[in-house]
Amino acid sequence: MNAQANGPVLVINAGSSSLKYQLLVPGTGEVWAKGIVERIGETPEQGEAVADHGAAIQVMRRQIADAGIVLEDAGIVAVGHRVVHGGPDFSDPVLIDDAVVAAIEDLVPLAPLHNPGAIAGIRAARTRFADVPHVAVFDTAFFATLPTAARTYAIPRELAERHRIRRYGFHGTSHRYVSRAAADFLGRDVGSLNQIVLHLGNGASISAIRGGVAVDTSMGLTPLEGLVMGTRSGDVDPGLHLFFHYQLGMSVEQIDTTLNKLSGMKGLCGENDFRQIEARMDAGDEHAALAFDVYIHRLKHYVGSYLAVLGSVDVISFTAGVGENTVPVRAAALAGLEGLGIAVDAERNAVRSKEARVISTDDSPTTVLVVPTNEELDIARQAAALIA
Ligand code: AMP
Repeated sequence: MNAQANGPVLVINAGSSSLKYQLLVPGTGEVWAKGIVERIGETPEQGEAVADHGAAIQVMRRQIADAGIVLEDAGIVAVGHRVVHGGPDFSDPVLIDDAVVAAIEDLVPLAPLHNPGAIAGIRAARTRFADVPHVAVFDTAFFATLPTAARTYAIPRELAERHRIRRYGFHGTSHRYVSRAAADFLGRDVGSLNQIVLHLGNGASISAIRGGVAVDTSMGLTPLEGLVMGTRSGDVDPGLHLFFHYQLGMSVEQIDTTLNKLSGMKGLCGENDFRQIEARMDAGDEHAALAFDVYIHRLKHYVGSYLAVLGSVDVISFTAGVGENTVPVRAAALAGLEGLGIAVDAERNAVRSKEARVISTDDSPTTVLVVPTNEELDIARQAAALIA
């Protein structure tokens, strides 16, 4: 690695109304500054308005200056941008030029909620930091390796091809980072391990990874497919959309809001924060208990399915807000699987820590881990590696 590549990377995760950032050193993981600029484009009741992403970049600069760092003097080696949807063509990080911005724009129909914010963030940051290379890291990229059978929907083939309809998968940066961190933690070569990663946050997904290569994942064309999430339904009968429309007269917008924002744990028990759900279960709340059971039932379906996809599994890792913190979810998701070679140790599972750790028993053939995810670090590393 050359000297330049040891400098910090500015990681930007821009959505339509927020911009999260971290200034960190990819080699050491040291974080120099991090924060979030919110309510972009909204008119605030009090305080200063952030008109657009250009203004958000200015607010970010000021926040970082308040932490004692002048961005222009910090020796930034790259700006890494998280982009949710890379479509069929982006399977690796890319150096951003005008053609790449146009290509990300061309993918807006596939990610109408996510890609426009990323594009606005990229445009504003390229204007402000014109002398630094900008790198796009795609949330779908890690799943570019899904076998054709795993990524294809059984719908008319020509329709799918014409409109790029297939399973893409999301949270790829996290699944990639955690699968590699798990191998490092165990002192094993990632290429020698069959892994299942459970990324359980407010959004949630699970992946099957053979020798470091993703072979299946639960999210599809959009991040709505798969597991029960904080506010998203995950898998439902596709006929449910028709029922909503034909029988209940719901509009497309209402169906969208219902399945993306009002479903999942929130829809089942009115609450999507697992700390509250745990407290309510302890207090005997039956809606919270049912929501938990539905969540776990779906998880088990996928764990069993990915065991079958992989044939055997060496490592199962839990990550993200729920996966790293919610002890009963980890216990219940893998309960009763001793016959399949998976045994969680109750005492180890109950330990609270910010570090990677083993929670399986010593004689469990499959090692079960908790591995804190770090998407910003992975984006910074990928950006630094690309420009090195
Ligand atoms: P994430 O999307 O990865 O940030 O995960 C957020 C979710 O993690 C929250 O909605 C909570 O349900 C869950 N969670 C449970 N325990 C904790 C905790 N101690 N700290 C943060 N998040 C938690």
